[in-house]
Amino acid sequence: MTTELEIGLYIFMLAGFLGYHIITRVPPLLHTPLMSATNAIAGISLVGSLVVAGADYGTFSTILGFIAVTCSSTNVVGGFLITDRMLKMFKTAKDQTAQRQYIPFDPKMLLGLPVLVIGGLVLMYAYEQLSEDPVHFLRDVLATHALKYFYILSAALFILGLKGLSSPKYARRGMFAAELGMLMAVAGTLFHHEIVTYKWIVIGIFIGSAIGGTMGLRIPMTAVPQRTALSHSLGALAACLVGISEYFRHHGELDRVIMTALGFEVVVGGLTFTGSLMAAAKLQGLLPGHPITYKGQNIFNLSLLAVIVGSLIYLVIMPPSGTLFTIVVGLAFVFGFMLVIPIGAADMPVVIALLNSYGGLADAAMGFVLMNNIQIITGSLDGTSGFLLSLLMCKAMNRSAFNVLFGAFGKVEKKEGDQEAEAKGNVCSISPEEVTVLLDNVRSVIIVPGYGMAVAQAQHGVAELAKLLMKRGINVKYAIHPVAGRMPGHMNVLLAEANVPYDQLYTMEQINPYFPETDIALVVGANDVTNPAAKNDRNSPLYGMPILEVDRAKSIIVLKRSLRPGFSGVDNDLYYDPKCMMLFGDAKESLNRLFAALKS
Ligand code: NAP
Repeated sequence: MTTELEIGLYIFMLAGFLGYHIITRVPPLLHTPLMSATNAIAGISLVGSLVVAGADYGTFSTILGFIAVTCSSTNVVGGFLITDRMLKMFKTAKDQTAQRQYIPFDPKMLLGLPVLVIGGLVLMYAYEQLSEDPVHFLRDVLATHALKYFYILSAALFILGLKGLSSPKYARRGMFAAELGMLMAVAGTLFHHEIVTYKWIVIGIFIGSAIGGTMGLRIPMTAVPQRTALSHSLGALAACLVGISEYFRHHGELDRVIMTALGFEVVVGGLTFTGSLMAAAKLQGLLPGHPITYKGQNIFNLSLLAVIVGSLIYLVIMPPSGTLFTIVVGLAFVFGFMLVIPIGAADMPVVIALLNSYGGLADAAMGFVLMNNIQIITGSLDGTSGFLLSLLMCKAMNRSAFNVLFGAFGKVEKKEGDQEAEAKGNVCSISPEEVTVLLDNVRSVIIVPGYGMAVAQAQHGVAELAKLLMKRGINVKYAIHPVAGRMPGHMNVLLAEANVPYDQLYTMEQINPYFPETDIALVVGANDVTNPAAKNDRNSPLYGMPILEVDRAKSIIVLKRSLRPGFSGVDNDLYYDPKCMMLFGDAKESLNRLFAALKS
């Protein structure tokens, strides 16, 4: 074991622990921005890709490097832009009403002082060296010495960036630090002594930035889950391609330790690429969202995995074999598809978070192959973040990660809503006009948004209605379940987009005690997260999942189109509760009608 490798392993472990401590402090409110931020930071695979695209490693490597540069820059630009778009939306009521004041001097500006001092010293040093021999300075001194300090500073800035996400107040500043870190790492790498041409680097960065920029600026907030999945797939592809280039550049003659890391990089990168593509396609509705299962599926998948692992071990031990290596890469791509096919669209967020974690590990492995510590650090941070988020989601759904991956959840045969209604009793339906009468006499309302609000894009209607109610002196609160919608923090982002101050959003633990004293719980497109069977029915698949206790409110109004169940396929007894009234129809249309009726 080489010393460099030992150092790399220490760095990997320490970054993982640090990541764990920082990421557990990110509130659920910011879980969606966290996903896109780690995604952007994982675009650090760009530094490895730049060298492969610009060095004289042969045409094959240059092509792979060029594609990797394009993919990584798409992630960096798109990831940071969309994270900033989201973070800009998180405001308190006070922030929204506060007048912008001109502050002649902000003491926090003093923090920039150390940066200025260090910058000045670097410039002085550069000047001294430049006066001797500029080319020698740029090619050797800067490349070999300054680059590693750039990387250390970048790593510190990435960690500060993630730390900023522990509060919406500092989140944007944190992301600015991370962006600066990325800029430094990329700018520093451009001076890498092995880079001989910038042609493919420039073209790749240009194409990637154009695609990433368009995605980051234009994608609607409701499509954030599929964008995140697509982004993971690009990052993983970049890692996989750089690994392939390294293997063939050395004609497979690599030291065993490096070959192990490289094998891990291409296999995990390959399966994450196709798996994430599948996840994006399922979420976008391009592929059927239901689980696709067949007999012996798990055995087939496990056998495929065993073949891949066995072949990798062979490649590590035995003399190089380009053909076997190519087969292993192909099988990794196939395995990614097979792994995601049996998982339903609604479970995709857990899958995305897990694949995020795999993508981070592939990046870290790339760091070991290229002996690049910044990639080891960011890969470890990304891996930890994805893993933690997937565990949090599983906990909030009261399911195990094993059940999500191999349980084909969501394949429950759905019963016809009308037949169910007959069996369970009466359902009371209500019109928007009748709702206005009810709202005339209330003092408190809790709004419970769910996946249906995202589907109907009804967040603006919800916010308008809430404002109107507040103007009438009604106390309005929003109840956010940790897994409402299809992404952790999904509802928070949508409501922030509609200018709902985040201090009006209550977590499940905070809001549940308020329900008994609330006049109306207004459920907008939420279903599973309100199902009392999770508390009362031991035989229900939802039993044990913590829910928003809307059944304890004085009255309940549910906005949805039918009695059909939600993601879990489990019927909701709430709708047969005598104090529950159903306002049937698309949530956006119902809210528009309700708003018009209230106004008139
Ligand atoms: P849900 O249980 O999936 O229910 C959503 C409801 O929205 C449906 O019953 C549907 O009923 C209604 N709906 C759909 N389109 C609508 C429209 N245009 N207008 C009005 N209503 C509409 O959603 P949820 O209560 O938010 O629960 C989320 C589920 O996803 C949970 O089971 C959770 O475990 C799972 N999940 C979440 C995450 C996450 O990170 N957030 C991750 C994995 C899994 P109609 O068809 O009758 O309209």
